[in-house]
Amino acid sequence: MKKIVLTAFFIFVGVCSYSQVKGKCGFDAVQQKIAQHPDFASYTLKKKLAYNNFSQQKMDTVIRIPVVVHVIHRLASENISTAQINSQIAVLNKDYRKLNSDTSNATGSSIADVKFQFVLARINPSGSPTTGITRTSTTIDNIGISNKYDSLVPAWNNERYLNIWVCDVGQFILGFAYPPNTPGVSPQEDGIVIGSEYFGTVGSVAAPYDLGRTTTHEVAHYFDLLHIWGSDQSPSCSTDDLISDTPNQDSEVYSCVTRTSCGSVDQLSNFLQYVDDACMGNFTLGQKTRMRTALYTQRDSLQYEIGTLVSSITDQNIFAKTKLYPNPTKGTVTLEFPSNFEFHETKIQLFDVTGKVINFKTIRATRGLILYINAAPRGVYFLRVEGEKINYTQKLIKH
Ligand SMILES: [Zn+2]
Repeated sequence: MKKIVLTAFFIFVGVCSYSQVKGKCGFDAVQQKIAQHPDFASYTLKKKLAYNNFSQQKMDTVIRIPVVVHVIHRLASENISTAQINSQIAVLNKDYRKLNSDTSNATGSSIADVKFQFVLARINPSGSPTTGITRTSTTIDNIGISNKYDSLVPAWNNERYLNIWVCDVGQFILGFAYPPNTPGVSPQEDGIVIGSEYFGTVGSVAAPYDLGRTTTHEVAHYFDLLHIWGSDQSPSCSTDDLISDTPNQDSEVYSCVTRTSCGSVDQLSNFLQYVDDACMGNFTLGQKTRMRTALYTQRDSLQYEIGTLVSSITDQNIFAKTKLYPNPTKGTVTLEFPSNFEFHETKIQLFDVTGKVINFKTIRATRGLILYINAAPRGVYFLRVEGEKINYTQKLIKH
């Protein structure tokens, strides 16, 4: 399928208006838009400081990331099946765990296990069970690039879910993503937008973008990776992707034929290329470090699913700095430990006034979690937190 053109003029409202944008991925248009924003300088500086100050010690923890897939369909073929969605989640969980069978495509440099695990959300923002999939019909053509996708279906809390809209993205790109804290991008539009025919490995997908790598690629942008060739708008070795172990490259490449540029062999197998899905196969260790750093410094709360999570610590005055909110609550309450905290194993228990355990979790190195007690009757409860350096009980009111 060669519907993807090398260069195209198109209206990319909200991301880029009447701009000349290279094909396949809309990230270049996103970058152009960011560079023109008045907050660009402070955005760049803030990110640089966050990355420089980040201690790279948490590279081995497997991080679970809750995903919600918003299917928006005008045509019947765009209302993709649950099986197609599941096939995409499976691809992510191979590619981000170095479990894909085609790591052998990798040439030069390292092959990284990023250690991200993607799960369809089980609890929606209201605390109710969910499949992690929403379905909405529309009459709007090209809704993915018309700046209407989020008006029709706003993101679920972008600090708690990776939002993926699967819909019609027009004929010039396969998808696009916003990097963390993109200036000018609202929380309700933050996430990833993918064309339905490039999502997953079964159903409506078609070669050569039928192996789910478009989403692998866009998720990487969401965690702040750049294209291998950097931000060059014409062939040049002057910018790169800020990653030391990916060979510099002069421009985007669509062909899988071995190629040399900027004095080195291009790593065509990298997920941040434009090559066909079947040619791809790896991230590098440098890319892993940048994505995990982006997660810890800018998308940290994505980890706060029930019973998972985070962080480092030495402060003894944990209780005074621990937050439990809202309290009273109507059902969803967040327990948040201070940053720079290190528990090894922490047991969280919720008791009612009779001492009966309502809920408990044993979690390792946790920075916080969300408790859903919607089903519990109104009344007074006690939250007990027990760990190596912590042991306290706090009253919680459900109303
Ligand atoms: Zn891209």
